[in-house]
Amino acid sequence: MPETRTYGRRRAVPRKSEQQESFDAGRTDGTVARREAVSGRVVKTGSNAAPATAAGWDDVDKVAAAAGGGDQYLKVTENRMVIKILSDGPFDVFSSHWIDEIEDGSKSIRCWGTPACPLCQIGDKAKRFSACFDVVSLEDPEYPVLKTWDVGIKIARQLKEIATDDKRGPLNRSDLYFTIRKETKKKSVEYTLERVKERDLDEEYGVQPLDAEALAAFQAECHEYGDRVKEVLDEDAMEDIVRLLMDDA
Ligand SMILES: [Zn+2]
Repeated sequence: MPETRTYGRRRAVPRKSEQQESFDAGRTDGTVARREAVSGRVVKTGSNAAPATAAGWDDVDKVAAAAGGGDQYLKVTENRMVIKILSDGPFDVFSSHWIDEIEDGSKSIRCWGTPACPLCQIGDKAKRFSACFDVVSLEDPEYPVLKTWDVGIKIARQLKEIATDDKRGPLNRSDLYFTIRKETKKKSVEYTLERVKERDLDEEYGVQPLDAEALAAFQAECHEYGDRVKEVLDEDAMEDIVRLLMDDA
C-alpha cells in the first residue's frame, strides 16, 4: 500500500524576532521579500545554517515540535483553540472510503469521486467527508503554525454559511479569527466553531493577532485551490484493495 503522501509544509513563525528586523532591513520588493522571510525563518530550525540570533533552548523544542515529526493536520482538542483561516474556501474537498481490512498503511482511501471509483463500484460507500483549509494554529500563541484543517460536513456547512454571508464573511477577513474545540460524547464527537473578532482576541483568549508580516509569510505557504492533501490511488492500487476485500468476503 502506498503511504498517504505527506503534503504541505509547516512553518513556525516566531513573532517579532530580532531576526525579522534584519529581513525587513534587506527588503526590496514585496513578493521576493516574503519568500525570503519564509525561508529565513527556516534557518531558525537549525537545518543548515547558523541562526542569525541565539534563540535559546526553549525555542529548540518548540520549533522542532512544530516543524518536524508533527502532524500537518490541525489537531482539535477539548481545549478551545484559536485559529486563523487563510482562504475563503477549502483548497481540497473529497470523501474517503474506510477499509478496515487494510493492515499496512492508511485505512482511509480517497474516493475517486466518479462512478468509475472501483470501491464505489463494489458497493463500498465513501462515508467520510473532508474539506481542507489552510489555517494558522495559535494553540501556542508564541508559535503560530501553518496547518491543514480537515473538517467534516457539519463544520464545512457552518463555514460555508459564514463565507457566503456578506456581513460575517469572508472566512479570511483580516479582522476575523475562529475558535474550535471538540467535545467527545458517548457515541460521537462534536465540534464547536465560533467567530472571534481580532479586537477581542487578547481580552478573551490572551492571544495576540498575527501581524501583517507573519500573515503574509503564511499566506505564501498556502496550498493553491485544487491541491490535493490526500493522494488519489491509481487503478492498480485500487484493484489491490478491491481484491483484498473480495478475498476477505
Ligand atoms: Zn469511491
